[in-house]
Amino acid sequence: MAEFNQPLSGNDIPRFGGIATMMRLPVRESAVGLDAAFIGVPMDSGTSNRPGARLGPRQIRDESRMLRPYNMATRAAPFDSLQVADIGDVPVNPFNLHKSVDIIHDCYRDVLSRNCTPLTLGGDHTLLLPVLRAMRERHGPVGLIHVDAHADINDLMFGEKIAHGTPLRRAVEEDLLDCRRVVQIGLRGTGYAADDFDWPRQQGFRVVPAEDCWHRSLKPLMEQVREQLQGGPVYVSFDIDSLDPAFAPGTGTAEIAGLTAPQALEIIRGAHGLDIVGGDLVEVAPPYDPSGNTALLGANLLFELLCVLPGVKRRS
Ligand code: MN
Ligand code: MN
Repeated sequence: MAEFNQPLSGNDIPRFGGIATMMRLPVRESAVGLDAAFIGVPMDSGTSNRPGARLGPRQIRDESRMLRPYNMATRAAPFDSLQVADIGDVPVNPFNLHKSVDIIHDCYRDVLSRNCTPLTLGGDHTLLLPVLRAMRERHGPVGLIHVDAHADINDLMFGEKIAHGTPLRRAVEEDLLDCRRVVQIGLRGTGYAADDFDWPRQQGFRVVPAEDCWHRSLKPLMEQVREQLQGGPVYVSFDIDSLDPAFAPGTGTAEIAGLTAPQALEIIRGAHGLDIVGGDLVEVAPPYDPSGNTALLGANLLFELLCVLPGVKRRS
């Protein structure tokens, strides 16, 4: 097992010491030789309400210090069979969102060309568009598990086509998605129009509003999602505001009555067995949660995503 990178143990250097990489993994300059890479996108120029997600990657890395290498619930052992590292942050341009989108696209094109699966620490949800553009170049249109309080299907925001509330609309227009294999989970709140959630349904998406998730396990839902999404590449995009603000107050556009932390785990664990080609955890905005609990949740969800990647073995 020594051939695979391992997270630095809390018994070798205290968890509050050392270099604050994701899961205390080694830093690598590029994705060369990696099966999966954690990548930060410190960007919030696409936010429409409260900014702060540019600080997300750093706090997620800090809060990931407590993560140990084995998943006690699923017995997944990602570091037994995958070479994983933290390849740092995409050098986005904080003054120019459109340039940032192109910079992210270039970066992910390179990562995917190395046969490396990217797991992204966001950053605002605008990053989904350039990541999906790179995914399409590599895999063709992908299936998508989109967990979010919002549909992110606005055509324009302040007249702009690129913003954190528009990536799904652009993705459909640009044929980045296999629309019959797209599910949106956790949508809720108030809308610009009463039929806001009908547009994604018209594209062929399955839309699961938060109300349909209340008071229940999401395991049966995920059985159906697996059936719907199997047979092709799947990307997982997880907006932390899908969770109730009681669990995840550290985000820019909070909505009440959201998912619970156990339901978030059920969703990601329920994606096991799909051909997952990448994932992200976006919209953690540390200024609104000085406790760090939102970022702690985000770090754990990224670990859970790692645990369901193809090729990860489960110890018996
Ligand atoms: Mn979103
Ligand atoms: Mn959202």
